[in-house]
Amino acid sequence: MDFSYTEEDEAFRAELSGWLDEHLPAFLAEWNAKHGDEADLDDLDDTTGAGSGGIMAAMERRRAWQRILAAGRWAAITWPAEWGGRDATVTQNVIYSEVMSRYRTPGIYNANGLWQIGPMIIRWGTDEQKQRWVPNILNADEHWCQGFSEPQAGSDLANLRTMAILDGDHYVLNGQKTWCSSAHLARWGLFLVRTDPTSIPEGRKHDGITALIVDLDVPGVTIRPIKDIAGEEMICDVFFEDVHVPVDHRLGGEGEGWLVAMGTLGSERVGTASLAIGMRADLDAMVNLARSVNPQALADPELRARIARAHTDIEYTRLLTYRAMSRILKNQKPWPEVPMAKLQWSHLAQTLAELAVDLLGPSGMLAKGGPDAVDGGAWNRLYVFQRYTSIGAGTTEVQKNIIADRAIKLPRK
Ligand SMILES: Cc1cc2nc3c(=O)[nH]c(=O)nc-3n(C[C@H](O)[C@H](O)[C@H](O)COP(=O)(O)OP(=O)(O)OC[C@H]3O[C@@H](n4cnc5c(N)ncnc54)[C@H](O)[C@@H]3O)c2cc1C
Repeated sequence: MDFSYTEEDEAFRAELSGWLDEHLPAFLAEWNAKHGDEADLDDLDDTTGAGSGGIMAAMERRRAWQRILAAGRWAAITWPAEWGGRDATVTQNVIYSEVMSRYRTPGIYNANGLWQIGPMIIRWGTDEQKQRWVPNILNADEHWCQGFSEPQAGSDLANLRTMAILDGDHYVLNGQKTWCSSAHLARWGLFLVRTDPTSIPEGRKHDGITALIVDLDVPGVTIRPIKDIAGEEMICDVFFEDVHVPVDHRLGGEGEGWLVAMGTLGSERVGTASLAIGMRADLDAMVNLARSVNPQALADPELRARIARAHTDIEYTRLLTYRAMSRILKNQKPWPEVPMAKLQWSHLAQTLAELAVDLLGPSGMLAKGGPDAVDGGAWNRLYVFQRYTSIGAGTTEVQKNIIADRAIKLPRK
């Protein structure tokens, strides 16, 4: 099997590396000169937009960095060129993840916007909707959240019950969404709502769902942050009480919400397949840090074996990711590679976070706020926060069901 990259792909890698050499140190120097380095904390977690420590400072730094990326057409490389992207191939997207993690760039401001909602508006939106919203997502002018889950609709998303009833030129929205990442920072949200109240009682729960873009600044919207296991407030409940949403804020047709959502989650899952790519850089970073703060750990045979095991797992996951990508390139269904890569990512994220705390010894236990906390307590935060990786983007049990059902085709009872 040939794992080498084509000349074109290598040229893409060189162009990105050259661009980062030119822009990243200058950006960091300028930002740190103005703001200090308190926002460095978010570098360990690029997946939820959560960040850590001084969250608002971290988010502002992400916003500034995303703007620089957008100006260089490096913020949304898979988007079409006419919308500021590069029409990048799946392979180039993997290279992008590899290079960005090697340079340990700041996170982007609005992962939901760039990875899921922007592509969906480009795919489903009217010309007017695209002109209105797509540039703002790219330039980080407006933050977006994605509101699918509800208290009784998570893994079983089609059970969602937030109701939108058509009344002339607008929908009237009532109900509750939950677990909306960064909704309290968002101006806009892409929400899945039920426009046909008869569909659940009639046993057609996937029908009658519609995707609506909601302005979160209008009357009737209440957003309540939920304190997470790390003590941060980056996920929210969102309540709607008689909220008026203009019909021209509907994405796709009425009742087409499930189709729109599956596209969105499809992008999320393809993205998830490549998440583990950055983990090599995390492992290197924690070993380097241990050399300075807890060097005796690196002589411990048990810890050395865990490092070797993590290294092997990361390599195996990289190859699994390549296999998923190659199936996608050939227009084949990426089963079971994508759900397996998701499972591997959860497993590795948690394994690495535990390894980091053990490698760093007493320093690894110090949480943010303390003057002696290593990297501002970011590794300690990661230790508790990474539990979410077996829930977000599809729970572990549901991924295993998908593998059993669609890949291994285990017999049903
Ligand atoms: C940090 C974080 C950020 C998130 N951000 C967003 C966001 O921005 N927008 C959004 O819409 N949602 C978001 N979510 C929600 C996420 O998508 C849901 O938590 C997820 O889909 C699981 O749904 P649930 O929490 O309702 O759990 P449930 O679906 O109720 O599951 C509970 C448990 O039952 C298990 N289970 C469920 N069904 C089965 C089955 N058929 N077979 C076997 N076991 C099963 C699950 O694996 C789990 O262990 C976020 C979640 C987290 C943790």
